[in-house]
Amino acid sequence: MWYPRSNRVSASTALVVGETIYLIDLGHGATQRMAEAFNASTFVNTPGGKIEESQSRFLQNVDALFFTHLHMDHILDYPTLLLVGQNAGLGQSQPLKVFGPGDRGQLEENKTGYHGTIIETPAGSRTPGTKEMTHLLWQAFAQTINDFTLDDGWVDFTTLVDLREIGWLQGSDIAIPLPRHAVAASAAECAPYFIDPNTTPCPSLEPFIVYRNPDNGVTVSATLVDHHQVFPALAYRFDTPDGSVVISGDTGANTCGNLQRLALGADLLVHEVIDEEWIEHQAAVGVPAALIEHLSSVHTKIGEVGGVAEECGVKTLVLNHIVPGNAPVGHLVRAKRNFSGELIIGEDVMQIGIGQPGSGRSTCL
Ligand SMILES: [Zn+2]
Ligand SMILES: [Zn+2]
Repeated sequence: MWYPRSNRVSASTALVVGETIYLIDLGHGATQRMAEAFNASTFVNTPGGKIEESQSRFLQNVDALFFTHLHMDHILDYPTLLLVGQNAGLGQSQPLKVFGPGDRGQLEENKTGYHGTIIETPAGSRTPGTKEMTHLLWQAFAQTINDFTLDDGWVDFTTLVDLREIGWLQGSDIAIPLPRHAVAASAAECAPYFIDPNTTPCPSLEPFIVYRNPDNGVTVSATLVDHHQVFPALAYRFDTPDGSVVISGDTGANTCGNLQRLALGADLLVHEVIDEEWIEHQAAVGVPAALIEHLSSVHTKIGEVGGVAEECGVKTLVLNHIVPGNAPVGHLVRAKRNFSGELIIGEDVMQIGIGQPGSGRSTCL
């Protein structure tokens, strides 16, 4: 999003464990920030003196990418990574593992009285998941992709990624362990059972494992959070030999305890926030009621996030995905309310170490 006089780009986090990089979301501007953080090369001798290599292979260290949900401010730089990444080593040693939501399976409710076009994929989905989105990107960019393979020797782009969908429909690579019940549950605020994405987008459930890397001891688990009408909307926890990091994804403060169960005792909780005073101002200047409802109920207000972090029992709370990006620091410090741990107001390309002082192995950017 383009917030005036803010240099924050859209949502993205990198977790570095040893030499290995994990990416969580890739919003607009994320690939540029990634390059600022990681893109370095060596100097080589030439007859005229030393020059720096024009290319680095920094993306070959990226083991996996995790999408929390498929909103544009979390995925817009995905095409950039897929298209340009090969030039910086993406998928060269092994395919990049991409974990993301599956097909929603059901069009969301029309809460705005919309009468325009509903976009549909050639396969007939109006809510495509990560796999179909990726396949359609290859098609959308067919002209440049085919040119680079036929004329410039680039390898088959479709081999660069290994796609793994997290979903509730049959055929999902990782099934969300949704609590189901023979008797229809009510659409109560904390639904104990799942009915469908429109009725119960965030039922109470236990965290589930989505990935383990035996080479470096990293385990990634996930849970559902409340970002209706998006479904599934995921939070992720990374347990590493140096400590644990949780990324909230986009969510309201009430996840029926899901985030609390996932983040329990974590070292670092990287959590989104929205400025409640900005929402009030938006309402006062006539922003549509449906958008005000979205901003108020499926994002976490600055004044609420400290309480969530306290319930999770985390050591450190890091604010990210700050909406609006130019929210004053004087507002953001209210996140300390009800939280006894350390508060860090995130900035782009900020580095936060995890683990014992001096170990310096894992870093969250
Ligand atoms: Zn979102
Ligand atoms: Zn977002």
